[in-house]
This record gives sequence, C-alpha cells and structure tokens, in this order.
Amino acid sequence: MESLVQIKSRRHLDVDRSMKTSGIALTPGMEICQTDLPLDWYQEEFKPYVEEYLRLPDRKPETILPWMDRYMVPALDHFGPKLMLLAHYYMGGEIVKLVERYGGRIADSYELALQAERHPEVEVFVESAVHFMAETIAILKHPHQQVWITNPKSGCTMEALAKEDMVLPVFDDLYERYGDKLMVICYMNTSGRLKALAGRTGGAVCTSSNAFTIMKWAVSQGKKILFVPDQHLGRNSGRKVGITDDDTFLWPGGWQGAQQSLASLSAKEKARLDQSKLVLWGSYCGVHTVFQAHHVTHWQALGYRVLVHPECTVDVVDAADGAGSTKFLWEALAKAKPGDKLAIGTEGHFVKNAIDYGKQQGFTVVNMADIPGASLGCGCATMSRNDPPHLVALLDLLRQGKAPALNRVEAGDVVDEASGQRERLDEASRWEIAKDARASLERMITLTEAAARSP
Ligand code: SF4
Repeated sequence: MESLVQIKSRRHLDVDRSMKTSGIALTPGMEICQTDLPLDWYQEEFKPYVEEYLRLPDRKPETILPWMDRYMVPALDHFGPKLMLLAHYYMGGEIVKLVERYGGRIADSYELALQAERHPEVEVFVESAVHFMAETIAILKHPHQQVWITNPKSGCTMEALAKEDMVLPVFDDLYERYGDKLMVICYMNTSGRLKALAGRTGGAVCTSSNAFTIMKWAVSQGKKILFVPDQHLGRNSGRKVGITDDDTFLWPGGWQGAQQSLASLSAKEKARLDQSKLVLWGSYCGVHTVFQAHHVTHWQALGYRVLVHPECTVDVVDAADGAGSTKFLWEALAKAKPGDKLAIGTEGHFVKNAIDYGKQQGFTVVNMADIPGASLGCGCATMSRNDPPHLVALLDLLRQGKAPALNRVEAGDVVDEASGQRERLDEASRWEIAKDARASLERMITLTEAAARSP
C-alpha cells in the first residue's frame, strides 16, 4: 500500500478562496450553540438574499414563507422532478420543516447516502446538511447527476478532529507494523478521503444505524480494526460484539493523534497496542458528550424512558433504556402512545423537533440534559449553518445558472469549516478517491441489506 507521502505527491490541488474567513476557529470545548448567523458568514453571492431576510420584521412562518416562495417556487417549477432537496433529521427545525414543505426529503445518514444512486431520474441534489454527507452522495451518484450544498462551511466538529492529514500519518505508522492485518472502519462522519482509505484496506463505512452489523463483520475478518473518528461509537459498537476494554486501544484524536507515533509509545503501551483488536481514533462529538449517567437516572426516577444516541459515552449508553441511531430514536417517537414520557439524549434540534411532535401526539418528550439547575443539551452549530437564506439563495442562483462553484460538491473536496476555503483534487485523484470510497460505502450497503434480510 502506498504511504501518505506517495499518495499526496501524486495529487494536484485547486484551492477556492472565494469565501471570506469568519475568523472563528473550531476548537475542542468551544461554545457550539448558536442562534443567528452574522452577515459575514455568507458568501458574497448570497448577501443580497440575506439582507432581504434580515429586513423581514420577524421570523414567523407567515412572514418567512411568502418571502421564500418568491424564490423557491420559480426554482422548483424550473427544475421539476429533476431536482431533489435533502436534509438530515438533525438539522434545525425550520430547515427540516422548510425542506419538507418544498417537497424535499428528510432522512438519516444511511438513507441520505443512497438518494442519488436510487434516483437516477434526479439530476440536481441540493443538500441542507453537513459537507461530509453531501460528499458521500457525490461519491455514490451517477455521472449525470450534480450535488450542491447550501453552505459548504456546514461541518462536523468530530470530523474536524480526524482530517486526512491527522489520520494518514498514524495509519502509515500502524500499517508498517501490522501490514494487511490492519483494516479501517470509518464512521459516515468522515471525509471521502478517509472513506477511500477504508476502501483501500478492504474495510467499510458505517453509520450509527448499522455500526453493530459492520463491526460484527469486521471482527469476523480477523484483522486489527482502526475505527475512525468517533471513539464512543467505536467503543459502544465494539462492546456489542464482545470487544472488551482490554482489547481496545485509544489513540488520541486531532493533531495530538497525528503527533503521536509508535516510536513514542512505551514498551508497555506497544504491547497493549499489539494485543488490541480495536484501535479507536480519539475524536468525539461535543454535542453528544455533554450527557452524563446522572442525567439518565434523574429522568428514570421520574418515570421517563431514556433513549440515547451511541455517540454518547459508554456509561450513558449502559445506563439508558435504549441506544440507537436517529432512525431508531425517531421510530421510538413514532411508536409512543399518549401519556408516555421519553427523555432523549441526542442533538438539540432533533430533540426540539421531538418535543414539538410529542406535544402534537399527546406524549411528553424532554431533552435528557435539561435537569434542574442545568440545561446543557444543545444543537449542533456546525451542522446547522444552513438557514432559509442559504436555501433560497442557492436555489435561485441555480435556476439562473449562476450558482457559485464553491457550493458544488465533488469526491475528495475538503472545506475548512472556519474559512470556507475549499481544496479540490485534480480529476485523476478525484476518480481514485471516489473509486476507493465507493468500495467502502458499497460494502456497508451490501452488509446492511444482508442483515436486514436475515431473520
Ligand atoms: S452532532 Fe456531533 S457528530 Fe453530528 S455533525 Fe454535529 S458535531 Fe458532528
């Protein structure tokens, strides 16, 4: 297998710097809750739309919708069935509801990834969610299709601690020691470049809905697994297939991980690494790690059923009454009966939508982190950098044939979440990334569909 240095030396890059920097750096522990996006966050081409939006007297549907209709309806008429709008369950309530109102689809990561492949009749996909999700759709798309993102700076703090330049040096180091006995399993929350790395090692991508299936398969391959990037999802799904803490080695995430080498480990640590079955990249989700085991017991004592996402820490998952993907959580809500009480431990916008839904259906939903004296649960600010003016501006500019090139998404693109600067690979490197990343995604799809068919 080629090393990082060899791979990177073959690539040619084009860098798009058309978006101005916000000056805000993504750092662990930063305040990630947000309210409004300042004007400076928008691309130049979007600013006229934003200025109109900001002049609206309020944010009520009766004010926002007529304004949006002026731009959205002509764009939808122009493209007809050739256009599909997409959003993730986790997006802020207004975008989920707006995308649905304009005929779009809301889904979890697994379902979103399949949309282009399953809908060859659609030519233009507009995604109001994170960049890695749009890139995944672009990797699996048919050649005649295009994928656009409403805000290229919509990223993921967990993914930001597992960039290619951080992970590949570590992979090269481990590969030198373990060779083809090393396999990479990537969470969906990774760039296409890391999904391609998984593909090159014969590994697979997973989502929170199929992590158990993929981990079970990975263990059956008898290889050492490098799980990237979420240590908590990796540990939680590893435990479900019998991988103990003794079999698990935690490698630091972010630049700290990149700077740690095998040579810097003590003999004892090296022996532990040799014996481990699962090496976890130490990234995490700042939104899901605010939940604590005492939040679980607080709500259970009040008669609530507590459900959490597996990006929460292992003690939270162990204490909860159930853990699973956004799909699992939403299905639990769909099955709830009037009078039921549910405490949900996941991303704040999702929980807010769940609270609204519960009110309509006659049951109670609370954010698990909202305990007396503390209200820690919050939405994912990086993912939610998509708002009505982003959607309106991109749709209107697409209709006019003037959409900024920066918003078009291709395999291998890397966008800096703070500055909006995008690195695009040359065509040959893009093709190679797409081929390898597709291999790891298709393995996930095959395994997931086989598991769904099995009794
Ligand atoms: S909620 Fe967490 S994992 Fe999901 S996009 Fe935001 S930072 Fe990433």
